[in-house]
Amino acid sequence: MKKRIVMMGECMVEMFQLVENVYHQAFAGDVFNTAVYLKRSCETPVDVQFFTAVGTDLISDKLVRAVEREKVDTSLMFRAKGVRPGLYMINTDAYGERSFVYWRDTSAAKQVMQCFSQQGNLTDVLGCDMFYFSGITLAILSDSDRRALFNLIHQLKEQGSQIVFDPNYRPALWSGIESCRAVFTEAYQLADIAMPGLDDHKVLFEHSTVQQIKAFLTELDVAEMIIKDGKNGVVGCFAGHDFAAAAHQVKKVVDTTAAGDSFNGGYLAARLADIPPQDAVKYAARLAGFVVEHTGAIVNKEHFQRFWSR
Ligand code: ADP
Repeated sequence: MKKRIVMMGECMVEMFQLVENVYHQAFAGDVFNTAVYLKRSCETPVDVQFFTAVGTDLISDKLVRAVEREKVDTSLMFRAKGVRPGLYMINTDAYGERSFVYWRDTSAAKQVMQCFSQQGNLTDVLGCDMFYFSGITLAILSDSDRRALFNLIHQLKEQGSQIVFDPNYRPALWSGIESCRAVFTEAYQLADIAMPGLDDHKVLFEHSTVQQIKAFLTELDVAEMIIKDGKNGVVGCFAGHDFAAAAHQVKKVVDTTAAGDSFNGGYLAARLADIPPQDAVKYAARLAGFVVEHTGAIVNKEHFQRFWSR
């Protein structure tokens, strides 16, 4: 039977500077990027559903169409009145250094839980094979909406859905490190698969090695973990068995935006096809290696397909 993954998060309008005062407009956001790469790379049919809220304006319509073009299911993209998607701008200075500026404080995605309770049905989400969310999904919600989301995840877990969490720590989205630590610990306790970056844990939990993260997640009962460390590759552990994957050899690293997101997409595509974790990490590293050779979060679809079918 066709598998189904529900992926909850925010997709924003991306403005990428081409030259001084000229920008390319796209759509991106951590969970959305992962959804796109999962759908593009899955070799068995998988229903990928993006769970979010957008507005009722023209740019929101455009965003929904962009999701549809990726063959990602939009039935859990709810509409909130009077608000718009968040936006961010990527500027590159004369030395090639990138900086990000965000306008997301009042973005539609923050209202996803309210929209879901008014417009959605529990049965639309229950029964999925996997449910994916990130630390950014958690960061943009109010305390009460976050509680409602944790309740929903509890129900999904009870019904047998596998829960996947990537902390993707963004300090600017949290009022304090302590509260973030408590929220992420709760998320990890619900997770069957955790996909943190070593850098996230260095800052947030003061873990300096992969082994420390592994011990911490084992204590929280996480069965499957993939700890990402940029160009040093990943270390994983599944049911007590350790494994590792080197980063893919790339000709030239152009832009590491969405390296982790694309890695997650490839990994989950492989896992949904019942490929074991030790092999899924290699599949994912090949995909992420391609993404870092290109500019922007989401590489042109035709270009990606030519590479992936090789
Ligand atoms: P995250 O941002 O989630 O911490 P990472 O930066 O660790 O993710 O990157 C995830 C994966 O992307 C790595 O395991 C590797 O496969 C690939 N990757 C990241 N940076 C590079 C790089 N410089 N060269 C080759 N592959 C890379």
